[in-house]
Amino acid sequence: MQLISIVVPCYNEQESLPLFYKRVEQIMTEFNRHRDQFQWEYWFVNDGSSDESLKQMQYLHAANPEGVHYVNFSRNFGKEAALLAGLKAAQGDLVAVMDVDLQDPPELLPTMIETLIETDYDVVATKRSDRTGEPWLRSKLSQAFYHVINHISQVQIVPGARDYRLMRRQVVQAIIDMPEYNRFSKGIFSWVGFKTKYLSFHHQDRVAGKTHWSMRQLLDYSLEGIMDYSEVPLAIASWLGGLSFVGAILGMLWIVFRALLFGNPTAGWPSLVAIILMLGGLQLLCLGILGKYVGRIYLETKHRPQYLIKEQR
Ligand code: UDP
Ligand code: MG
Repeated sequence: MQLISIVVPCYNEQESLPLFYKRVEQIMTEFNRHRDQFQWEYWFVNDGSSDESLKQMQYLHAANPEGVHYVNFSRNFGKEAALLAGLKAAQGDLVAVMDVDLQDPPELLPTMIETLIETDYDVVATKRSDRTGEPWLRSKLSQAFYHVINHISQVQIVPGARDYRLMRRQVVQAIIDMPEYNRFSKGIFSWVGFKTKYLSFHHQDRVAGKTHWSMRQLLDYSLEGIMDYSEVPLAIASWLGGLSFVGAILGMLWIVFRALLFGNPTAGWPSLVAIILMLGGLQLLCLGILGKYVGRIYLETKHRPQYLIKEQR
């Protein structure tokens, strides 16, 4: 018997939870009917929901104490923390990570499981094949994000990659062992490597509830990804410094020659003010970039736990 764990972060998902459970149960039962080869367990992580999500989990747990488990956080710590807690709790030989809103189609689970047991892949991951239903600006910005991060960082992230994936125990262990506080899953998944197969699926609408991501959070998340996996923004600071230095020398030479050749006294202060302002701005910009990195070091060195668990069953 192989055990499959299904890790599901949940934040205010009281409507989606029962629908999710029902759909996945149906699919897994059907898949296992003629094989009788698998057992599966759920790890729902309640990420500080303010609605009845926890009640739903307790209800499912009471009905199926062996198969349904939950972790209850002391407050909202974010999806990354919830994922980590779920991965740590999961006991399975194969571990799946899924959103509860059914945007990650559970119909793919059988194919994912078969791929892992029949081939030597370590991970089956998924990506969206289209971005229908997404606002124009948002989809353009996501494209730009993938372009930038894949150019300037060591990790490669497949455009449209979801967190939805099935992994062998060894991969899960590698992810858990990454000790960082700022966790950017897309980067971590890519950083640990292992042989990964990608399946694509069409965009699905949420079954209930609404997305937790605002434009601003998405921007923050992208910045986080870039800063976690690249030092290029720091290098930009030195490049800008070098460029303005060379520019200043050329400018100086030009002024000296002009005075020698044409005896032309340099007209004063508008140009001066412009240059001072530009340099001041550049310096602040570079300080800001540096500050972002220092801030992240500060957070890492505090060694705070990524989450606090109030109850786990
Ligand atoms: N989620 C979470 N904590 C949060 C925000 C979201 O655990 O602070 C969960 C949420 O319940 C869902 C998954 O993360 O299962 C993805 O969230 P969402 O559907 O809002 O993201 P989207 O699919 O729009 O990218
Ligand atoms: Mg979603």
